[in-house]
Amino acid sequence: MNFHVFPAGRPRLGSVTLSIIVALYVLVLLNRSFWAQSLTVLAGQKMALLGLVVSLAAGFIALFVSFSVKYIMKPLLILLVVTAAAASWFMDQFGVIIDSDMIRNAAETTSAEAGHLLTPGFVIHMGAYALLPALLIGWVRIRHHSFPKKLAMNLAVILPALLVFAGAGLSHAGTYAFTIRQNREWFATLNPVMPIANAVAYLQKLRQERGVTVQPYGTDARVADAAAAAQRKPRVTIIVVGETARASSFSLGGYERPTNPELSRRDIFYFDKAQSCGTATAISVPCMFSGLGHDDYSHMGALERQNLMDVLVHAGIRAEWWDNNTGSKGVAARIPYKELYRSTDSRFCENGECKDAILLDQLDNWLSSVTRDSVLVLHQLGSHGPAYYARYPDEYRVFQPDCRSAEFSKCHRPEIINAYDNSILYTDHILATIIDRLKAAENHVAPTMIYMSDHGESLGEKGLFLHGAPWVVAPEQQTHIPFLLWLGKDAKAGIDLACMEKRKTEPVSHDNLFPTVLGLMHVQTEVRDASLDLYSGCLPKPTS
Ligand SMILES: [Zn+2]
Repeated sequence: MNFHVFPAGRPRLGSVTLSIIVALYVLVLLNRSFWAQSLTVLAGQKMALLGLVVSLAAGFIALFVSFSVKYIMKPLLILLVVTAAAASWFMDQFGVIIDSDMIRNAAETTSAEAGHLLTPGFVIHMGAYALLPALLIGWVRIRHHSFPKKLAMNLAVILPALLVFAGAGLSHAGTYAFTIRQNREWFATLNPVMPIANAVAYLQKLRQERGVTVQPYGTDARVADAAAAAQRKPRVTIIVVGETARASSFSLGGYERPTNPELSRRDIFYFDKAQSCGTATAISVPCMFSGLGHDDYSHMGALERQNLMDVLVHAGIRAEWWDNNTGSKGVAARIPYKELYRSTDSRFCENGECKDAILLDQLDNWLSSVTRDSVLVLHQLGSHGPAYYARYPDEYRVFQPDCRSAEFSKCHRPEIINAYDNSILYTDHILATIIDRLKAAENHVAPTMIYMSDHGESLGEKGLFLHGAPWVVAPEQQTHIPFLLWLGKDAKAGIDLACMEKRKTEPVSHDNLFPTVLGLMHVQTEVRDASLDLYSGCLPKPTS
């Protein structure tokens, strides 16, 4: 007899009442970022703000009551609460916007990276704002009615609520439309409506991308002096794809702290007006190698076509990718590829992540094995947050005190910046070491190195942290990236240095990577846009 397992103390609620309570709970308590922004963007417009509150309250009630159907009601309400609670944590803590690109980024991230986000603070937040309400929803007893009566009762709430929603919304429609145009990110924080809509959009894109066939690209590629290759040293270009390094924290670009002590003593070209294609790895990395360029880039467009690595292979060049990040995002799909981030080598790795020194470990071996023109991509973990402190070994704890937590609320902003700057200092060391190794190999190869970060990072400017803001509204810290080029003596011979010095000061972007690498490797193909090649344009014209 189980009748008395739940005593009469279990409260009974009408299904409509429960839906309204949950709707208002989500709207009020799990939308702090949205309301904080609303207060800012509608400052001084009291009636418009009131209209927004009334309209959204009515809209949420209409939406949540429409789920008020036996069997599906409780699971759906719980799902909405849990989604909104999780999204609100990242919005409120880091100021991130959960759009479909952000969801892609999260879906393609490694479990170790994701682990850093599951901090004690997050667990407590979820306990208080998701688990507790979910238990309450599960606990209360719902009075259900026959279907016709239920439908009538629901409609009796939904229809008037929709009228209020529309009426209040239309009362200041012009103001809202204008404000949204000026502040595109405003409604992106509306919880859980936007995260769910964006997750659906992401899943739709994913379904399209599944059936993709890759079109050949740049199959005409040839090394210009391939016939004479036996009479010269093999060319080697190392492409270092940085992670989350921002130009404003590079002393090479004018940052007042000495974050580039080693690189500043190397003979490099630093391009200080470089812009990223995206604000997240999952966009920037495929974009950089796609040859599409920022303006024409789409995730699907890049997947449908071969990329820089394939074009190099068409030209007869050995191309390889070593990854200490979260994968090549499909760029290395058809070339030799090493997943160094899965290593358990205790010299470099702990807790499922490896320091970037792992990229150097086999570099000398690789260099001594080079017998023909070769391009190697090294994909760093760089300055990936929020656990900046996990990126660098103890010798690089130069800026102190450094935040030793992935939870920013546990640290003061200067400590977060210290940890971030230490990670840049460590990247400085990694890049300088690669240059030194290449220099040491110059007796048998003709080396060059190109470094570009995938995107920047916000460190509390305008209250934002991390990255992934929609590109059009992204702060400069997320899109202004460090970009540098090192030329070995063979590559530098004959180059017009004044021409290079001038180029360094001009605006450049991820769009320059594809043609410049082809230029460095002397690859001729109709798919190379010579005007974006930062190297060949400064070589003397062939005099044949
Ligand atoms: Zn990234």
